[in-house]
Amino acid sequence: MNRRLFLQSAAGTVAARSLRHADALSMSPQLDKMIGLQVGAVSFADEGVAKVLDECQNSAAINTLFVATFTYGRGIAGRQVPGQPLPDHGNQTYDTDTFFGGAYTKVNAKYYANTEFKSFRAPDLGDFDVLEQVIPEAKKRGMQTICWYEDVFRRDLPNVEKLEEVELSGRKAVTLCFNNPNYQNWLQDIAEDWSRSYDIDGIMWGSERQGALSNMLGASHGHPDPSTVTCFCEFCYAKARAKGINPERAKQGFLELEKFVLASRKGARPVDGYYVQLWRLMLRYPELLAWESLWTSSLREAQKAIYDRVKSVNPKLGVGWHIWHNNSFNPIYRAEQDLAEMAPYSDFLKVVIYHNCGGERMVDYVDSLGGTYFADVPKQELLNFHYRILEYGNEADLAHLAATGFTADYVFRETNRARQGLEGTKTKLWPGIDIDIPTGKASAKSTPAGTKAAVLAAFRGGADGVILSRKYSEMKLANLRAAGDALRAAGLA
Ligand SMILES: [Zn+2]
Repeated sequence: MNRRLFLQSAAGTVAARSLRHADALSMSPQLDKMIGLQVGAVSFADEGVAKVLDECQNSAAINTLFVATFTYGRGIAGRQVPGQPLPDHGNQTYDTDTFFGGAYTKVNAKYYANTEFKSFRAPDLGDFDVLEQVIPEAKKRGMQTICWYEDVFRRDLPNVEKLEEVELSGRKAVTLCFNNPNYQNWLQDIAEDWSRSYDIDGIMWGSERQGALSNMLGASHGHPDPSTVTCFCEFCYAKARAKGINPERAKQGFLELEKFVLASRKGARPVDGYYVQLWRLMLRYPELLAWESLWTSSLREAQKAIYDRVKSVNPKLGVGWHIWHNNSFNPIYRAEQDLAEMAPYSDFLKVVIYHNCGGERMVDYVDSLGGTYFADVPKQELLNFHYRILEYGNEADLAHLAATGFTADYVFRETNRARQGLEGTKTKLWPGIDIDIPTGKASAKSTPAGTKAAVLAAFRGGADGVILSRKYSEMKLANLRAAGDALRAAGLA
């Protein structure tokens, strides 16, 4: 469908879709026509709660705030990423020296009796409690508040080492282990703290990580050193043994795979080629796959436990998950995101479908993978292969993809695929839409027209709502307003 026809049909499709989902939506009225925005505490502290809420409501018809209540990452908290142009609102200086991260709410010690990780209040904004400040003002405007936290930590925190994963090298990782009871409990405890301490509408958690196999192969945008893949801790070993997986064989397999990856990145071609050699290793060490699955199933158990804990406090609260952008690039990671399997413990899913930065990230993924098990395949061919198997349409070639980004058609296709994956479930589909996510100097930048097309494409693909991402402090108002224009044009606002 060409662009003109697509725009003409979008409004009608949305109306039909709204009717079809009316029954399911009426069961949880707080989730009806969800127009969400991710926003960090610093925006409220810098610009004032009322001003930010009025701007978001007037510009983009936002009815739900995804407030970054906990993270040590700059992706969803803090001001603009240093080095990127500051947007046309907010404090016009970078917070390079003041950003630290943590919980932007009070920490009620009584909820953390079963974890050794107890000290994680963000120092950045003093005593500022973002939920205490925002919820009353949001309610006045008919807006909902969802706590948004993510799986990002730092090493310099009291007791955090007791929760850390163990890398293949034997060193402690900066990431925390889903099989460590201290982390399992903490993930649930903080959700309970927010659920009991504030009049919130829900909780969203995200983990932008994957298992050791995909990680070691470099199958993501941005790839780690092979020796740092995880997790090889005592809790993972015990869990593996209970499931009949031999952890020593797994570790041995990963050490062999590490040699292969390091040699591949230097261009040392195995006699039978890179792809065949990977298969030889996987056949010799089926534990490589077993270890990958163990990691992912542990992530799913963590999600289910958070869901159950929040529901035990208040069944009316919505609980859902942010699904990492790697779902758009790596077929192995995509295979691990079985939406129907997740549905029983997911009131909603934010599937990341960031079109603009998606181009640059896909190029990075292809570059990385083209250095390991697909090193025999020219990179343009490797990109075409992924377009084919991931069912993308006519996206740009490798030389131009970073500069153009993905099109709105990618947003449509990915939303539609997720919709089909959720068929027959009650889980709401809220794609994450890219507004001004930082990219390299020569890479695509968000525009009002591109933002508008992406929002319309999500609804045309069957979305129940959208989450404008990643954070208000990096968004230009013109692009936010374009999202609002699209929503109003589609009769959703
Ligand atoms: Zn572990």
